[in-house]
This record gives sequence, structure tokens and C-alpha cells, in this order.
Amino acid sequence: MRIEYDIKLGFKDVMIRPKRSTLKSRAQVNLDREFKFLNSKATWRGVPIMAANMDTVGTFEMAMALMEHCIFTAIHKHYSVAEWNHFLSKAPKGIENFIAISTGTGAKDAEKLAEVLSQNKNLKFICIDVANGYSEHFVNFVQNTRNLYPDKVIIAGNVVTGEMVEELLLSGADIIKVGIGPGSVCTTRVKTGVGYPQLSAIIECADAAHGLGGQIISDGGCATPGDVAKAFGAGADFVMLGGMLAGHDESGGELIEKNGEKFKQFYGMSSATAMEKHVGGVAEYRASEGKTVEVPYRGKVIQTVQDILGGIRSTCTYVGAQRLKELTKRTTFIRVAEQENRIYNK
Ligand code: 5GP
Repeated sequence: MRIEYDIKLGFKDVMIRPKRSTLKSRAQVNLDREFKFLNSKATWRGVPIMAANMDTVGTFEMAMALMEHCIFTAIHKHYSVAEWNHFLSKAPKGIENFIAISTGTGAKDAEKLAEVLSQNKNLKFICIDVANGYSEHFVNFVQNTRNLYPDKVIIAGNVVTGEMVEELLLSGADIIKVGIGPGSVCTTRVKTGVGYPQLSAIIECADAAHGLGGQIISDGGCATPGDVAKAFGAGADFVMLGGMLAGHDESGGELIEKNGEKFKQFYGMSSATAMEKHVGGVAEYRASEGKTVEVPYRGKVIQTVQDILGGIRSTCTYVGAQRLKELTKRTTFIRVAEQENRIYNK
């Protein structure tokens, strides 16, 4: 047994220090980023926020709404081949730049992926997603997927440490998804004791990825636009959101009415709800590692998107970053023992 004594930080442990700025208005801030990916050599331009590949977030409807703002959706993995074909036959031109097809690492997953991709050659992004990105089987799956699809952009995760980011990039991934345990409906830290505070995970993994020319996605733990800004400030190239995009018309999940108030169901992809829905129950040898909650219904996602983008633009003006790309260079985090004043919060 070993103990690492240097403290690891989460979003709640820091704030961003304001800096002198010549920017007059938030409207001057450009949130677009352009990336060239390490292994596929593809390029991408857009606002680097991603809807999570959860079936109560990353739906086809969400992708259509977010694409209007050049925001990306990792589509959840439970759509059938027929549903994919139907969606892509109707979606507007350019959608392939703003969606990823998600897959697990089982033989059936690989078969379905091959089928969808063979029938929809314009799909560009593959998101290989497992709860624990530290297994040899996962690394082999990433390598095989790269060999099969040399031109596709491969997202792989989740991991939280630099050495595994490097291993996945060297195995053929382009973008590494970072986060174990911070998610709003995740219970991994409670069930297993495993995890890594998200801000430190971003800082360390971004450093490793950027050293090799790769990118990272900060996945999980953002509860406010300020957290999204902190994730970018820490060095995330993309920020993936689950709970912040749940509860909308486009989010999927059941609409529930209770005493005249509306809610939407939102659940973790390893929750008992998800496992019952998709694989017929929780297998005996495992525990569910996700919650099922009801979140207040919030109408169309556009208002939430504007709130998030407005918040990040404002962060950029506070530190004098005219482009999102400059935010991390202009970020100094201060360690804090307080966040917002909650006196009037319910
Ligand atoms: P959020 O933005 O809601 O804080 O986090 C979203 C992320 O939580 C997802 O992208 C995914 O990485 C993670 N997640 C989703 N469902 C589960 C689950 O059931 N268990 C765990 N451990 N993580 C989950």
C-alpha cells in the first residue's frame, strides 16, 4: 500500500482569479475551437461542449438541437441499426461533424458498430466508452477499432491518470474521455472507493495528452456554467455534460407529473433502471453504480445552452481571453474554502 500526499482538487475547491482585460463585451468572445486529431488526422471546428452518451441526454433529438449551436452530442449506444439508418436518412447535412456513435467493448457492440458504419459511411466519430478504461481488453479494443477504421475520430475512456491517457493515444485513440466518479448520477466512489477529483484529473490528463498531440474531454461533475469554465480553464479541450442537459424536451427519459409539477427521469447508465431497460436486469456478480432521479422539467434545451455559453463568455471577459483557446493560459486558480452565498437558495 502507498499513499500520495499531494492534494487533488475538484471544482468546488477553486475559483478563477480575475485578471486585467481589454475586452469590452462578452460578445467579443469566440467560443469556437479547431482541432486536428492525432491519429485520424481529421479536423473539427465547433463549440467544444458535448452531450453525454446517456439515454436520458445524448439522443438524436438532442443532437439536432445542439448542432444549431455547433455543439456535439455523443449519441447513446442503445439505438438499433434501423433507428440509426432512419435518423441519418432524415438529418440535415453536416450532422456527422456533431455526433459520435457510442459503443461498448463486447463482441455484439463491435458487430453493431460495424453494421451502422458500413451503412452510414459518413459517420466520423466513434466513442468507445467503458466505466473502467484501465483494462487490457479495452486497450485491445481501441487498437482493433483503429485498425478497422483508420480515418474515424476515436474517443476512448474513461480514465483519470496521465499514463493511461498516453497508452490510449498510442493505441490509436484521438480524444480521451476523463472522469471516474464525478458524475451527478454516479455512485462509483460510494460503491468502490475508487475515483479522482475532477479538476486535478483534467490538469494531469490534459498535460499528458497535449504532450503527445492528443485531446481530452472532461466528463462529469459539472453542475453549473462556472464548473464548465473551470474545466476549460484546467485544460480540457472538450467538456461533456450529463445532468446539466437532462430534464429537457430533447433529453429522452419519461416525463412525470406530480402535484401539478413536471419532472423528467434521469438515470446513470450503470443504474438498475438502465440495466433493467437494456440488459434485462442487474447481473448477480455486479452492483449498480448509478442513481435514478427525477429532475425538474426545463423545456427546450436552447435556454440552458445559452445560459452555459453566456457563463463561459463571461469567464473569458473576466480573465481577458478573447478566444476560448486562450482561457487555460489566462487561468490562475485560487484554492478556496467557500463557493457561492447560498442564503436565498431553497
Ligand atoms: P454529469 O454531467 O451528470 O455530472 O456526468 C455525466 C457523466 O457521468 C457521463 O458522461 C458518464 O461518464 C457518467 N455516468 C453516467 N452514468 C453513470 C453511471 O451509471 N455510473 C457512473 N459511475 N457514471 C456514470
